[in-house]
Amino acid sequence: MSEIMPGTQDRSTLVKVSELSQYLLCPRLVYYTARSMERPDRVQMNERSAIEHVLFKELGFNWQRLCMGDPEGEPQNGYRETGETIAQTLAEITDSIEWIYRDELGSVNEDLLERAKTAFAELISTSDWLEQLRPDDELALLERSFGFERERTVISQRLGLVGSMDKLIRTEDEHIPCIIKTGRCPAYSVWKRDRMQLAAYAMLLEDAYNTTVQRGFVEYIRAPEVRTSVIKKGDRALALQTAKRVKRVKNGLFPEKGEHAPCEQCAFAAQCETKRTLLSRLLMR
Ligand code: SF4
Repeated sequence: MSEIMPGTQDRSTLVKVSELSQYLLCPRLVYYTARSMERPDRVQMNERSAIEHVLFKELGFNWQRLCMGDPEGEPQNGYRETGETIAQTLAEITDSIEWIYRDELGSVNEDLLERAKTAFAELISTSDWLEQLRPDDELALLERSFGFERERTVISQRLGLVGSMDKLIRTEDEHIPCIIKTGRCPAYSVWKRDRMQLAAYAMLLEDAYNTTVQRGFVEYIRAPEVRTSVIKKGDRALALQTAKRVKRVKNGLFPEKGEHAPCEQCAFAAQCETKRTLLSRLLMR
């Protein structure tokens, strides 16, 4: 049975859902992250990208407000002017990120932070990003009706997994995990890594709530585009198999690099190259 809130028990032996995604990107990222002080989300980003990442992430958390306007207003249609809400939401996001993401942005240069915020506000208001928002978007409607729990952590000793989904929506008869992605949106459907991540959250929720999770949402927030992912058997199996592999790597196995490993932006590139050279020398003896 899962624990829904983080408990006091030892979690060091559990595999994090974020490590499953990292493994699919490059198994060595799991190896180095497990042995370093670097946070996995800092590993592949420079400061500018890190700021943009959290700003977009916050747009995702404000999705229904951006799509549908603010329900607290009184005018004829029951909602305050959407344009006014959007401007207010953007201002609130840029004002609050250094408080919400203190860990990630604590050491970022203040001037760089301000410049990145201004560029972001301009990008959102002058590109066609806002044109894509729809008041009848399914995710926005669900959030308006049922709300969501932000960054809900679920632990399962039985699965050996722990994960924190960006949003959990609970309707009368569904538990729906949602993740916000700030990277590229696929031409159709959902990236394999994202499907696997949702399947892992689905299994955690099933263990915690004794239910069956049928679907999840991915917000590809840069596009912006929301995609539904049906939780399939293959994705569940992939998540469980990857969890076993992650465990072996965390226990010391040095893995092969990933087929599409992002070596050019990787913070571990230098040590990874050194380790590879040492290994090849040893093998040639
Ligand atoms: S340098 Fe490349 S192979 Fe090594 S950990 Fe980073 S992404 Fe993986």
